[in-house]
Amino acid sequence: VRPVVAVVGRPNVGKSTLVNRILGRREAVVQDVPGVTRDRVSYPVDWAGRQFTLVDTGGWDARVEGLALQVAEQAEVAVELADAVVFVVDGTVGATAVDEAVVKMLRRAGKPVVLVANKVDDARGEADATALWSLGLGQPFPVSALHGRGTGDMLDAVLEVL
Ligand code: GDP
Ligand code: MG
Repeated sequence: VRPVVAVVGRPNVGKSTLVNRILGRREAVVQDVPGVTRDRVSYPVDWAGRQFTLVDTGGWDARVEGLALQVAEQAEVAVELADAVVFVVDGTVGATAVDEAVVKMLRRAGKPVVLVANKVDDARGEADATALWSLGLGQPFPVSALHGRGTGDMLDAVLEVL
């Protein structure tokens, strides 16, 4: 059975863009305007001769109160079903209160986590990403899902924890 890797994080941090980058095609739906409810969607991935199932998350509904709760709850279900987690934060914003809520849940779940600072489109943003060590999830991997920067190193780190 293929191991399962769940991609979790706040809406709009670029989870689906990252999934598309990893798949090498545009399959996960990228939302410029957040607020559309979507379920977890699974995709088969081959990387460096290894196979796993990648699960994109991101369903949320702007009409319902408590975004932090929704993100954490949806992430929690995905994490329960996963062998490892890719936790995506916006590297241009840093860790928010919603991110901290997800981190608490990830700690409780005890699954291996690869921390990704997305939207680091050039070398300048890499220094800012080091601040994310403070989340206590280990090394932050700065990536640009949009341009593909850093995604190879990130995937290697995922394979190491699987
Ligand atoms: P999700 O809600 O976490 O799945 O985020 P999406 O993948 O739908 O992306 C939200 C927005 O962020 C879109 O407008 C993307 O084009 C943009 N985005 C995603 N990744 C990057 C990135 O690496 N760099 C930049 N500059 N924008 C990105
Ligand atoms: Mg998405």
